[in-house]
Amino acid sequence: MTSATGAICAKVEELRSQGIKIYNFAKGDPVLPNHPILIEAARQALQEGFSPYAPIAGLMDLRKAAADWMNRRYGCSISPDETVVTTGGKFGIYASLQVLLNEGDEVLIASPYWVSYPEMIRLAKGKAVIVETWKWTPELLQKALTDKTRVLILNNGCNPTGILYTSEELNALLTLAMKANLWVISDEVYSELVFEGKYISCSSFPQYRSKIIIIESCSKNFAMAGWRVGFAFGPKKLIEEIIALQSQSTTGTSFLSQKVALAAMENSETISSYVREAMRQRRKIFFETLSRLTETKITPPPAGLYYFTKMDPLFEKANVALVPGEAFGIKGYTRFSFAEQEENLIEGLESLFSKVCENSLDKK
Ligand code: PLP
Repeated sequence: MTSATGAICAKVEELRSQGIKIYNFAKGDPVLPNHPILIEAARQALQEGFSPYAPIAGLMDLRKAAADWMNRRYGCSISPDETVVTTGGKFGIYASLQVLLNEGDEVLIASPYWVSYPEMIRLAKGKAVIVETWKWTPELLQKALTDKTRVLILNNGCNPTGILYTSEELNALLTLAMKANLWVISDEVYSELVFEGKYISCSSFPQYRSKIIIIESCSKNFAMAGWRVGFAFGPKKLIEEIIALQSQSTTGTSFLSQKVALAAMENSETISSYVREAMRQRRKIFFETLSRLTETKITPPPAGLYYFTKMDPLFEKANVALVPGEAFGIKGYTRFSFAEQEENLIEGLESLFSKVCENSLDKK
């Protein structure tokens, strides 16, 4: 099955190419120009004049830089051979599931979930066990365990809800997951898009590192979604299995993209704050506009690029692109992204609300 968000964005492009004005609240990445440091890195890499196959595990300099990036932020001690460069965080999750799962193994996911988890689990012949909750608790986890449970996916900095886990919450979940001998895939691709509070990574728990895979990405953190660079960090043996899988599938990610990602890692704070501050401003405008139009004070989520909310079905009739809650496993909800340019956010919300008013008047 095609990814729901991918299909909606393709439809938006199609309608726009026909000259139709569409406000896109379905975007999954910051709509920002590449930071000048990235443009310069790409220019230099092209000027060097060759683009060979990169090493399948990723350029060694990039593996080192990515491991350092984690160690700097979280005080852990990840080494380059515990690091693999993947074609986006998405391939890191896909590959982890492929190497971890045997037929019928159960994978625990919370719903609302990121759209791709259930399908990726199915492709790896596993069984998605879906628990409806915005946040895992040890009680919910305990209840969902069976003798077939093999993996728990944690999405910290959740798409679509934007919720974050505290250190205490993660510690309690990891303790229980380890007791149950589970693998934990910690999807941390929004780690730098945190607007309130501090991001806690599962890599801050070295006592559990033998069973944790961290998924990271340049897509959201550095507004580099189209370059397709992500990372998986985990025990060396598992990373070797992912590299073997890459050797028979993607052959690793593009040489040019890796050179640009290396520049991002070497200037990580500059580039992620460029993205974060732009998104902070859009988040402010989005929630101010929404609060004005609904005449209710709406509290933004602490992280991510989205607002996930219960929604009147009338909204579906307006010509703006939104992602329905079903894509995330929950009916009656809708996901708005605030990653678009500011003027489009305001105009789009105003247009949406005026359509809804028209529709509700029509019904009377
Ligand atoms: N995980 C989550 C929760 C996401 O929202 C996304 C992208 O939307 C990804 C992983 C994959 O991102 P990418 O493959 O662009 O790194």
